[in-house]
Amino acid sequence: MKAIVYCGSNRVELRDVPAAEGVGVLIDVEACGICGTDLTIYKGAHPRSKAPLILGHEFVGRTAEDKDGFRPGERVVCYPLISCGNCETCLSGLPHICDKLRLYGIDTPGGMAQQVRIPADDLVRVGLDIPTVVAAQVEPLAVCVHAARRARVAPGENIAVIGAGPIGTTLAALLERNGVSSVTLFETNQNRIEMLRQGGFEAHLADEYSYRNTLDKLGKSGFDVVFECAGVGPAVADAVRNVRAGGRVAIVSIHKGPQLVDLQALSFREIELIGMRVYTREDFNLAAGLLQEMTQKLLWLAGDARKLEDAPELFEQLGQGDGPMKAILEMGHSLA
Ligand SMILES: [Zn+2]
Ligand SMILES: [Zn+2]
Repeated sequence: MKAIVYCGSNRVELRDVPAAEGVGVLIDVEACGICGTDLTIYKGAHPRSKAPLILGHEFVGRTAEDKDGFRPGERVVCYPLISCGNCETCLSGLPHICDKLRLYGIDTPGGMAQQVRIPADDLVRVGLDIPTVVAAQVEPLAVCVHAARRARVAPGENIAVIGAGPIGTTLAALLERNGVSSVTLFETNQNRIEMLRQGGFEAHLADEYSYRNTLDKLGKSGFDVVFECAGVGPAVADAVRNVRAGGRVAIVSIHKGPQLVDLQALSFREIELIGMRVYTREDFNLAAGLLQEMTQKLLWLAGDARKLEDAPELFEQLGQGDGPMKAILEMGHSLA
């Protein structure tokens, strides 16, 4: 079968590989999303991933056999977290932040292949009527469900999202769906701002004027919650500076190292700084249940899926900060 294999720093190849091995149900993969973590692996900067590795943890497919409670042809997505079950964190009821957390497609062969085997317990059914590129976005949507829950976002609140990549934009769409009063996206890439506006989002350049201007329009001195989805130091500083007294700053990005935080602002204005990582099984199942309702926005975000053969070029493009907002690769099995 064909698979997208990470072969070392800045190299992915479309390769013929042996049939999918291991325990679990055989899945014919329809499509697989490329996310920030995949790009970190591609750049050779992921601490755990070792070449050669079949990438992909954001995939949708059809079961290809009668096994472990599944019938052939069922539409499934994969809960990609592998927790040890034995560490203190797992035993305290937080397996999604297991001390030894691993993921399919990062630590084990993933779904950027024509077939993959996944244990039945990690498969979640999705409807046959959901478009493939939408179903392939359950995992990033689960990140957003988790982020909104961790930040305790309530209807009627005014929200800022700093960094309008796929996660920031999906989060904005989810928060609007959840009934917040306003969501403003702040972004440094002008092309992306234009695109977001065309997609119906309130989006501005991430600079001091834009934050002030937006808050003046809202008649507020600060946002109730600021989500930091940019992964850079200045975004963290902006988040703390533009949240209201008593508000929450949610760090959604995974930062590669320490960042400066104005602790005096945290103290004087009682700002709550909230950390988060991936999602729980409950968040993931909730996200799967939201696909139908969020189909239009998720279709807009991804556009058309790219061909399997285009993967090396697409990775190169994305690695340079170009390419589609949410890149999804088709794996050869019939797309809905
Ligand atoms: Zn991902
Ligand atoms: Zn554990």
